[in-house]
Amino acid sequence: MNGKVYLVGAGPGDPELLTLRALRLLQNATAVVHDRLVGKGIMNCINPQAELHDVGKIAGCNASMQETIHRTLRMLASDHSCVIRLKGGDPFIFGRGGEELLYLRRHDIHAEIVPGITAATGCAASLGIPLTHRGLATSVRFITGHLRDKQSLALDWSSLADPSCTLVFYMAVSNTRHIAHALLGHGRSGDTPVALVQNATLSNQRWGFTTLADLPSAIQAFTPPALLLIGKVVQLHPHYATSLVSRFVDQVQPCPQP
Ligand code: SAH
Repeated sequence: MNGKVYLVGAGPGDPELLTLRALRLLQNATAVVHDRLVGKGIMNCINPQAELHDVGKIAGCNASMQETIHRTLRMLASDHSCVIRLKGGDPFIFGRGGEELLYLRRHDIHAEIVPGITAATGCAASLGIPLTHRGLATSVRFITGHLRDKQSLALDWSSLADPSCTLVFYMAVSNTRHIAHALLGHGRSGDTPVALVQNATLSNQRWGFTTLADLPSAIQAFTPPALLLIGKVVQLHPHYATSLVSRFVDQVQPCPQP
């Protein structure tokens, strides 16, 4: 008889942004499989008696490594009544939660999804930039800036040209030059505002503003995990005009205690 596997979203980093359900599950867990994006503040919420499996070094790599994670979940479900697969943000947004869910279903292992605050909404909230706004943005797109197994980033660029759509790029740091070039080539204006946010909601959060034309040079001041918010809504930030281009702002926020 297998136990149940919970695919739990840990949110963007600040433990205060965990759902009550996620917190309760972590406090009662006996086995937790977690990845790299789950920081110390969240790890401190886990039952100290729980068996921890760090799959951070293998996640995000190739298919055979993802298979190892699947087998770990299956093995743990045969020994534990409640297994937690803890993922940064939301398990179903660029988190391979879908693949893990399908694998568990194929093996008749009961699974439940506990949603988390995805990086896009976490970053937008922490900067005070709405992702949609009447008169500025009628839609928002969450886009991967990185494809697995080093495939080239062949997105439908013309579908991203609409100036009233806010674009949020995940995993985009190494492909930013290509992204900026392709968006400009498909009609996005060079002065489209861009916000860059690194380690959002954590005490080491960094952010800065630039324009689409200057994005390739601005990104050099950032390392992953970072997110790109692109679109007119970014200009709603009170410091947008004054901290443009090269003056990146280090904003240190206190990290609330769980
Ligand atoms: N499932 C996650 C996304 C995983 S992909 C979610 O829903 O948020 C990993 C990417 O998410 C990172 O490369 C980065 O682009 C983004 N990301 C995750 N946490 C972040 C944070 N605290 N600050 C900035 N970007 C973050």
